[in-house]
Amino acid sequence: MEATIIKGIVLSNCDYKEKDKLVEIFSVELGKITAILKGCKAPTAKLKFAFQPFCFAEFSVIRTGKFYQVIDAKLIDSFFELANDLDKYYLSSLLLELSSISVESEEQNPSLFILLLNTLKHICYDDLPPYLVTAKFCEDVLNGLGYEISYQNCSSCNSPYLNKVFLNLDNGEFVCNNCKSQNSLQISKQALSLLKILSMTEYERLNSIKISSSVAKEAIHIICKDLEFRLLKIIHSSKFI
Ligand SMILES: [Zn+2]
Repeated sequence: MEATIIKGIVLSNCDYKEKDKLVEIFSVELGKITAILKGCKAPTAKLKFAFQPFCFAEFSVIRTGKFYQVIDAKLIDSFFELANDLDKYYLSSLLLELSSISVESEEQNPSLFILLLNTLKHICYDDLPPYLVTAKFCEDVLNGLGYEISYQNCSSCNSPYLNKVFLNLDNGEFVCNNCKSQNSLQISKQALSLLKILSMTEYERLNSIKISSSVAKEAIHIICKDLEFRLLKIIHSSKFI
């Protein structure tokens, strides 16, 4: 069988049988796939690098029933430096998890792939505020799934927000105090303004935003909560942020 060559990023891995790993690879060519890496756990294994999260490589894969199998991999970038900074490591782990839950198995989403790759590079190599980069990524993922944030007016009654803003977790709408439902999350005005500013600012210019990382963290948590309810999935890595 002819191998397919894909450029992909490892999103996660888990043990499989005694000596193998199952890796989740996100690629332009095949979308998100699950592939077996045989015998990779041995210390001397040639493809030991290829199951590490963040590993960006050219993978040769073949279809074997339910999964793919990785038969070769050429490393492009391991993003190894992320492991030297705990904040950056956790934020980047969230990028991987959000990408994973935003696409179905074998669903292609080249724009999300490019967004993930560029955002990992921004966090790993560029002198940009990592919390703001991550908050903007979260917002981009939410928008990419077709959900919008209403920055000025209540989504329900269309009046301008007065004092308080809430995220209605049942439907994802941003609403005023009068329109909030039982299942709502209050959002600070600062976090909402930050999300608005982020939506209008390119990644390369995020340095120009002066705001405490606690507001950026709140913005990240709001969008993660929204995504959990929209996608009916738990986002585990947000707990470390
Ligand atoms: Zn309202």
